[in-house]
Amino acid sequence: MLAELAKEVQNCTKCNLAERRHTVVFGEGNPQARMVLIGEGPGEEEDRQGRPFVGAAGQLLDRILAAAGFKREEVYIANVVKCRPPGNRVPTRAEAAACIPWLFEQLKLISPRIIVLLGSTALQNLVDPQARITAMRGQWLVSKSGIKIMPTYHPAALLRDPGKKAPVWEDMQKIRDEYMKIADE
Ligand code: SF4
Repeated sequence: MLAELAKEVQNCTKCNLAERRHTVVFGEGNPQARMVLIGEGPGEEEDRQGRPFVGAAGQLLDRILAAAGFKREEVYIANVVKCRPPGNRVPTRAEAAACIPWLFEQLKLISPRIIVLLGSTALQNLVDPQARITAMRGQWLVSKSGIKIMPTYHPAALLRDPGKKAPVWEDMQKIRDEYMKIADE
């Protein structure tokens, strides 16, 4: 069960991010979601509240989801690492490698049909360490188990560069179309 896994992760000290965290940000949403969105890691506000995507980037993600016709509570939202990297730096490969088995267990329990990778940290740790988000975004990938995977920009990147809003909107429309297709199955 997802709740049992969440309880187990609360005590995790598998990497050095455990030392300075205030909370473990496990992830949240519909435990039977057909779509899971995966970001990089908790920021300051997420670390304080213990919830993913609740800071400025999270508020933008909520607006993007709503504009595409999704309710936040119908999807599931998580990150590559569950504890805040100091100063919001990118998690190291070792930190991501230590944490990602938790995410894989989570995904096994949720069993989504679509995974949206938000930004290069998610893309590089879940698909290919050499992959570049600028080259891969907007393209459907398919996992060995048949899950459809769409990389797109992280909302924090949109806050820094509003020019990325149009490509994200294009990607969200493809995601919405695919989601509607599986809803009918
Ligand atoms: S980031 Fe992940 S692996 Fe590292 S301590 Fe937190 S929960 Fe454990």
